[in-house]
Amino acid sequence: MDVSDLIDPLNPAQREAVTAPQGHALVLAGAGSGKTRVLTHRAAWLVRVEGATPWNLLAVTFTNKAAAEMRARIESLLGINGSGLWVGTFHGLSHRLLRLHWQEAGLPQGFQILDSEDQRRLVKRVMRDLEVDENRWPVRQLQGFINARKDAGERAEDLDSADPYSGEMARVYAAYEQACRSAGVVDFAELMLRTVEMLQNHLELLGHYRRRFRHVLVDEFQDTNGIQYEWLKLLAGPESDVFIVGDDDQSIYGWRGARVENLERFRKDYSHTRVLRLEQNYRSTRTILDAANTLIARNSDRLGKKLWTEGEAGEPIALYAAFNEQDEARFVVERLMAMVEEQGLARSDVAILYRSNAQSRTFEEALMARRIPYRVYGGLRFFERAEIKDALAYLRLLANRDDSAALERIINTPTRGIGNRTVETLRLTARDQGVSLWAAARELVSRPGGLPARAGNALRAFVELIDGLDRETADAALADRIETVITRTGLRGHLGKDGSDRAQDKLENLDELITAAGNFEQDNTAEAEMDPLTAFLAHAALEAGEGQAGAWEDCVQLMTLHSAKGLEFPVVFLAGLEEGLFPHRMSVEEPGRLEEERRLAYVGITRARQRLLITYAERRRLHGRDDFAIASRFIRELPPALVDEVRARFSVTGPDAAGSGLGESPATQAEFGLGERVQHSRFGEGVVLDCEGNGPNARIQVNFNDAGTKWLVAAYANLERI
Ligand code: ATP
Ligand code: MG
Repeated sequence: MDVSDLIDPLNPAQREAVTAPQGHALVLAGAGSGKTRVLTHRAAWLVRVEGATPWNLLAVTFTNKAAAEMRARIESLLGINGSGLWVGTFHGLSHRLLRLHWQEAGLPQGFQILDSEDQRRLVKRVMRDLEVDENRWPVRQLQGFINARKDAGERAEDLDSADPYSGEMARVYAAYEQACRSAGVVDFAELMLRTVEMLQNHLELLGHYRRRFRHVLVDEFQDTNGIQYEWLKLLAGPESDVFIVGDDDQSIYGWRGARVENLERFRKDYSHTRVLRLEQNYRSTRTILDAANTLIARNSDRLGKKLWTEGEAGEPIALYAAFNEQDEARFVVERLMAMVEEQGLARSDVAILYRSNAQSRTFEEALMARRIPYRVYGGLRFFERAEIKDALAYLRLLANRDDSAALERIINTPTRGIGNRTVETLRLTARDQGVSLWAAARELVSRPGGLPARAGNALRAFVELIDGLDRETADAALADRIETVITRTGLRGHLGKDGSDRAQDKLENLDELITAAGNFEQDNTAEAEMDPLTAFLAHAALEAGEGQAGAWEDCVQLMTLHSAKGLEFPVVFLAGLEEGLFPHRMSVEEPGRLEEERRLAYVGITRARQRLLITYAERRRLHGRDDFAIASRFIRELPPALVDEVRARFSVTGPDAAGSGLGESPATQAEFGLGERVQHSRFGEGVVLDCEGNGPNARIQVNFNDAGTKWLVAAYANLERI
């Protein structure tokens, strides 16, 4: 049997892991050392040499993209092409088990999955039915509580109901479970927990899968949480061999309950585990690898690994200090375009990685402006996010009261005592009279006895809120208008009370919407005939629906550092390396969290194969605030010799200096740095954003405080530095 295709592309240490005798194995190794390659080759080896069948394999990882790549790889090594393979994510595989065994799981055959937005709505509805005070018990906090309990494998009845605090939460949890049951829906956390319970309660089923899955393989093991570990222990029976790969330096989900200690626990629970180490990195240039190694060496409590490469030194890491976030996006997009056009890189070879989802918008806009296809992974595009859609729905209603979809979305968001029954009455009235929901609402609140008193008051308050907002903000600038809407409708206060990281994220996104509106109003000259609100809403709607290239198209990859785990790209831009943003300000106080941020930086750096470009903005308008930032400590932690600072300065030379020889106008030799403040005789004060060309053709782009952004011919602009 020829297995050279399985063995040849491996180094001796990798080969040892792939061909290890039966038994449990743990491959502990740094980034880019071939862990995922070893895992896929091991799967193929088991079938082709050890006599397993593809049916005996269970291979698990964390993200959909990584799972799809793993499946494709194993199928190609096995020369098969079928969905019979059990390769997927924890959630995906659980879902598959529940679909197959819905009866044993106690689910209706056509059960549906709740995304977290739907889940929140349901929790809220349950709380209303139980008359739980949402001011004391924020919905999101309860939602987070329910998910955390499920991740820990606990049901409502397992909780201490005698304690008034947890008793109240348990009461909501129990009612929520009941509501899910009667609606026939399961949330994400439920997929895992339900599968575990189903297997525990149906030993014949458990036995079947344990006999079947003789070989269980897990990638990125360092990020498993409690219920995932339970799930694995169940499915891998006494006869099964477990092969896990991981890297403690890449453990980045501690904040979501992942336990890096599971690596140690595994060695205890699975006796005679063979531990293998890989030390050669095949992914990155020596420069990139050295930078990553130096950075991560600052963490304490590491299991300790070596990592070296035979590869070339490669180019230095480029570091660009942007003037602001737009300058940062401009730099990234121009650089990547140059690489695509001049060096023939595919767009999909380039990834832009950032710490938080809110950062994607500036990049999306810059890419869209240049018509460069891109794809955002693992997160909704900005204008599709729920909280943004809520804010936009209010604005749509201000622009057009008859937009019933918008009204329905926010009539009770945030909750204001307008229940389903009222909405149902509204719907019926609107239907009977053939009018919009808004018209029906006005009619109902003015008709005596149209609604029960409490419902009538709540609805009247809503109608007055919208009309009042319209009156008060009609003449305000767009950004101010949105700010007022977000505050007055309670969207902001509602999230503010929640206090979870997710709510914080959403608040930041709302602020980002205000920033977007401000920039839009300033830059939008094309649609001057439309009022700014209408133009902005059209912009948002078009952006949400289009420009998102399909996965099949060659497009630039945008994602958070968390979703980049396990992936690699020839070119990586690591954006927003500023103190407070990355490391995140909430992490810097706690050594444990800071180390997790550093691991995240390590993950980011080690995604790059040939080129790594790091950017930060000295001034960033994020979350609606202008912040002056300093470079992230992670930049300072890189060896300076490996980093090359990109010069943002350029020189502008007047006509004389360019050699016209006439000597009539004074030589206007000037040098402006991006971000420098300048004065123009007509347009006033502004900031240099960009430049093009040189000599007499040099043009400068200036963002004027009052006159907006303009391109000027440098030689004639007579700009003065201020
Ligand atoms: P991460 O920790 O980031 O998940 P990893 O350890 O899983 O990384 P892989 O993704 O498996 O690493 O491998 C990194 C890169 O090195 C891949 O492009 C892979 O194809 C390549 N590679 C791995 N082993 C070898 C080898 N022996 N010879 C040549 N290339 C290799
Ligand atoms: Mg990997």
